[in-house]
Amino acid sequence: MSDKVILVVLDGLNYSVAHHCMGYLNGLIKADSATLYKLECELPSMSRPLYECILTGVPPVKSGIVNNDIVRLSNFDSIFSLARLAGKTTAAAAYYWVSELYNRAPFVAVRDRFTQNELLPIQYGCFYQADHYPDDHLFMDAEYLRNQFSPDFLLIHPMNIDDTGHKFGFDSSQYRNAARHADIILSNYIPEWIKHGYQILITSDHGMNNDRSHGGTLPEECSVPLFVIGSKFSHQPCDIEQTAICGTVCRLLGVDPIDKSVCESLLQGENHGWYYRPLWAG
Ligand SMILES: [Zn+2]
Repeated sequence: MSDKVILVVLDGLNYSVAHHCMGYLNGLIKADSATLYKLECELPSMSRPLYECILTGVPPVKSGIVNNDIVRLSNFDSIFSLARLAGKTTAAAAYYWVSELYNRAPFVAVRDRFTQNELLPIQYGCFYQADHYPDDHLFMDAEYLRNQFSPDFLLIHPMNIDDTGHKFGFDSSQYRNAARHADIILSNYIPEWIKHGYQILITSDHGMNNDRSHGGTLPEECSVPLFVIGSKFSHQPCDIEQTAICGTVCRLLGVDPIDKSVCESLLQGENHGWYYRPLWAG
């Protein structure tokens, strides 16, 4: 396989809220154009440790990124570095901690906010610092990067669902409505991404609890969604670990995953009989 990939990490989105509130994504499932899997995040169920987990396949206790206050570059190969080794183009519209893990730490806003440097693991970036930076702005940043630089791998990482959960808690109309809002934004972009040949994964780092936080082992903090959209996925039932997202994305990109674990059953085999119905098939 050698496909272009968009990975959307909707920060702080719990599985059941994704399942019940995201009508567009669930509509794609009904139309046989997407599949939803449930995964359990690694521990602690915190942001920076799990960005590292998703992007390197290494769980927090092994990566050493065990809380949000550890500000340093990652010690492991990431989707970005492996894609660059293979000559692929990389981009991210993401929270500034992603720049700190893979490009430069600490983050210097005037230098790093807009990144365009072919020598860095994330070559093209728009990085934001405010948790309330509007999701619709962030998706427009991502679309700017996609249109300008045609990245093979694009990470899109909005923060408003997590931010709303911290203000109102898991069982709140505001938290659920933040997920609904992200679903509406996605409905504006996904058809275009598919037309441009992207394989799409939409997941989350962790969920949210009723104490307006996350970090522990409660189901609402740990169960997260993984929607996959595209003809290179098997769309068959399978168990996938959060630590396998990195290697599986590498496989989609046609990049050697080296020592990363790959969820082969998530991907379309050579002679798979499953019929994937493209969105534009009507
Ligand atoms: Zn959070």
